[in-house]
Amino acid sequence: MFDLVIKGGTVVIPEGASKVDVGIEGEKIATMGQGLSGRREVDATGLIVLPGAIDAHTHMELPVRGDRSSDDFLSGTIAAACGGVTMISDFSVGSAETSLPEEIEARKQAAKKAVIDYTMHGEVIGWHPGRESEFNEAIGLGVSTFKFYLAYSRSGRMSDDGVLYRAFTALAHYGGRAMVHAENDDIINALTDAFETNGELGILFLPRSRPALCEEEAITRAATIARHTGITLRIAHISSELGLNAASAARTAGARIIAETCPQYLLLDERVYAESNGHLFAATPPLRTEVDRRALWKGITSGAINLVATDHCPFTREQKRWTGSFLDLPYGLPGVETLLPLLYSEGVAKERFSLERLVELLSSGPAKALGIYPRKGAIMIGSDADLVLIDPRREFTITAEKLHMRTDFNPYEGRRVVGYPVMTLSRGRVVFENEQFCGEEGWGRFVPQAG
Ligand SMILES: [Zn+2]
Repeated sequence: MFDLVIKGGTVVIPEGASKVDVGIEGEKIATMGQGLSGRREVDATGLIVLPGAIDAHTHMELPVRGDRSSDDFLSGTIAAACGGVTMISDFSVGSAETSLPEEIEARKQAAKKAVIDYTMHGEVIGWHPGRESEFNEAIGLGVSTFKFYLAYSRSGRMSDDGVLYRAFTALAHYGGRAMVHAENDDIINALTDAFETNGELGILFLPRSRPALCEEEAITRAATIARHTGITLRIAHISSELGLNAASAARTAGARIIAETCPQYLLLDERVYAESNGHLFAATPPLRTEVDRRALWKGITSGAINLVATDHCPFTREQKRWTGSFLDLPYGLPGVETLLPLLYSEGVAKERFSLERLVELLSSGPAKALGIYPRKGAIMIGSDADLVLIDPRREFTITAEKLHMRTDFNPYEGRRVVGYPVMTLSRGRVVFENEQFCGEEGWGRFVPQAG
């Protein structure tokens, strides 16, 4: 007699999809088999049972110019749970003045209200003596992936090549991994200055000020340093064909590359900037062309892309109100709640890829990138019972009003998806059921990453 049995669903385990019962004991998956009985039994006939999605790239309550992204760790993780996401990886808030361990501890405190499990990347801003040993200490605290910005020199967030070289060398030594926001800063600044001089500050100039060549160049440069230092490098939010080709070429050349893209780069393109609410789509990297979208889909099906995450960084319409210049906008889009429904609907339901590939992109891929597999990201005996049940027949029209993310704007407003989560379990506990969040503030725990 198990605590909970999910009966009769199509369960996607690493070996493939099959009809099997899942027996849960406490917080773990205890067994899989036929005819299991439990104190509570959930009839999953006709449903698909997946490991919960892991959104490996979110920014909850992110400080931006005296403001914050509009979801905090409570509202953002409630939205996640309602969308079948059972874990997020956010970021510590770096600065040149503070140390990585203190930044990580502070962010762990902020994340305590999460309703699902979480981990974080260490955001590296600025360099000072002793940074190398901070990496070692941070890895001891369970954070072994570190994020570097190759752009944003003007807000003081950029790491130059010397910093990258020193950091990657140290991280390779201590067993850490690196992640980059890859855009060439000098070219962005040159173009931005030229547009500003001409008063060309409409939202259409956001994508023009950060063309795809910036992504290609920065990925190539970071990957070259990664290859020579032997570190694993995750490329965040690849947005363009040039960027994806650069990542693939670096991999062929021997770099250990983890390629990430986001739903917005697969499903939206720069035409939205020509619409009257175009400024609400401001994000970096910007949305690209249809040709880029097609190339990214190809990367999804070929395996060139290893995971899909959202870069969830929501703002309200008020926070993104148009002042006449794209330089004044906070950049970012909401996404954590629609990650799984969009990928299921556009990927599996449209027969672009299989259920097994969906699990690779949203569960096992991110878990492996974070060093938390197979505790997370798999339906296996001994894994945490983080599960999502999808009803493949359920249709849903995306609208900000019906979703739980704390924003009145959704980039997919009005889009119909087929297949939607009907139940989410976090470590054996049902946190979403009957279209209602039913979890608990503070249930989420920090998940340490292997070094
Ligand atoms: Zn981000």
